[in-house]
Amino acid sequence: MSDILISLSALQHYAFCPRQCALIHNEQVWSENWLTAQGQQLHQRVDSGVPETRKGIRYERAVRVSAPKLGLVGKLDLIEVDIKTGICFPVEYKRGKPKQDHIDLIQLCAQVLCLEEMLKLSINHVAMWYWQTKHRIEVVLTQSLRDETLTIIEKTRMLLESGMTPKAKYEKKCDACSLYDLCNPKLMFKDKSKVYVNMLFQEG
Ligand code: SF4
Repeated sequence: MSDILISLSALQHYAFCPRQCALIHNEQVWSENWLTAQGQQLHQRVDSGVPETRKGIRYERAVRVSAPKLGLVGKLDLIEVDIKTGICFPVEYKRGKPKQDHIDLIQLCAQVLCLEEMLKLSINHVAMWYWQTKHRIEVVLTQSLRDETLTIIEKTRMLLESGMTPKAKYEKKCDACSLYDLCNPKLMFKDKSKVYVNMLFQEG
């Protein structure tokens, strides 16, 4: 295991696009579009809440986690703790609506892996709260989701250790990427300058 501590957000970035992850975490490039701005606004609201107890449940907000064995650090939006049983129930706040892919779940599963390492307990249920649709979805953490998350953690670690940035390749998801203008995936894809320069130096 290396000494690199991976932030939970890097896993989400990697799951979305490895190049985006490298641009943000290897090259320290960051750009804000309206999607990230809305997300930050939502998290400022969530983070500002103070701990409280209602009907036997303690609500802890903006909880910092660190799991040295996994090599992860980050912050959880909310943990609901059953005062009697000690059962923890992490809740992640999301700006949009439920997605087809697993990206949000991978981030939440990584949060659970951190909590399990820190608190030496097992957590089987988590929840997402979606701002746009204003509803909460509860999810059972399956072994396959845990395995997928561990694979993403390993791949992210390899990417960050390499210090490399993968090449751009335009896909539909690029249209929602906060780094679109900096990455310019369509231009990179069509960029034949390398071929042209190579041709200039070819003999006869
Ligand atoms: S624009 Fe596309 S290729 Fe570039 S970082 Fe974003 S998602 Fe990745």
